Amino acid sequence: MLRPVAEGVLIHESEFCQSNAVVVHGRAGVLLIDPGVQGHEMACLANDLSDSGQTVVAGFSTHPHWDHLLWPAGLGAAPRYGTARCADTVRDRLSDAGAKARIAEQLIPPDIAGQVPLDLLGLITGLPAETARMPWDGPQIRILEHQAHAPGHAALLIEERGVLVAGDMLSDALIPMLDPNAADSIEDYLAALRLIESVAGDADVLVPGHGSIGGADQVHARIDQDRAYMQALRDAGAPDDPRVGPSATFDWMSGVHERQLQQLARRRERDGTPG
Ligand SMILES: [Zn+2]
Repeated sequence: MLRPVAEGVLIHESEFCQSNAVVVHGRAGVLLIDPGVQGHEMACLANDLSDSGQTVVAGFSTHPHWDHLLWPAGLGAAPRYGTARCADTVRDRLSDAGAKARIAEQLIPPDIAGQVPLDLLGLITGLPAETARMPWDGPQIRILEHQAHAPGHAALLIEERGVLVAGDMLSDALIPMLDPNAADSIEDYLAALRLIESVAGDADVLVPGHGSIGGADQVHARIDQDRAYMQALRDAGAPDDPRVGPSATFDWMSGVHERQLQQLARRRERDGTPG
């Protein structure tokens, strides 16, 4: 099930929401970014890795949402990292005894809830704030932290391989989803797009957290598409965006868009900002 997208970089796609797990070969073993969602898929990934003689030496979660924080026991006990802000957010959200049950009931779609192993959910170590590179023995990986979509979200640039791992941005299937708790979620998103754009020239392959893998041409095209969506949302206009149109990959995406419009309208009313 592992598919190479560049030298020493492979992906494993989940049936759930076209989630992409990323495997990066290092000198002593592999780094695993956002391992996946359903238990049987991650077990398959663990088997593929052990069959090819690879040990997982580190993990990384791009952001503090449940579908990026899973880890089945079969992958071993490697250190799992995230940005400091990501780890703090996870600790906060999982701090009470009922947190996992709440996630299972409210966030995980009922059709897969029984297949998502929550035992090791969110056991990540925060890297010191401003850490610019992945602490591991493998190709250099730049950590680009921003605040779009979720606190402490990181995109990763695997520099020597020309691969940009975007987390939940730059998807051809999902529209940009705002962090509803951020003070200025649209500006955070636009700032994150500018940050990613600053390294776009170094990326030949784009791996979104959900959706299709893109080539170099897709990096700029998807940055532009996300920015255009964000501007349409800000101006409360109708986005001209295939991800919410009749040919959308996910038919529930138009509902997400409507909710985002309503959230912004409510916030503007509350803050007294003119329309
Ligand atoms: Zn996600």
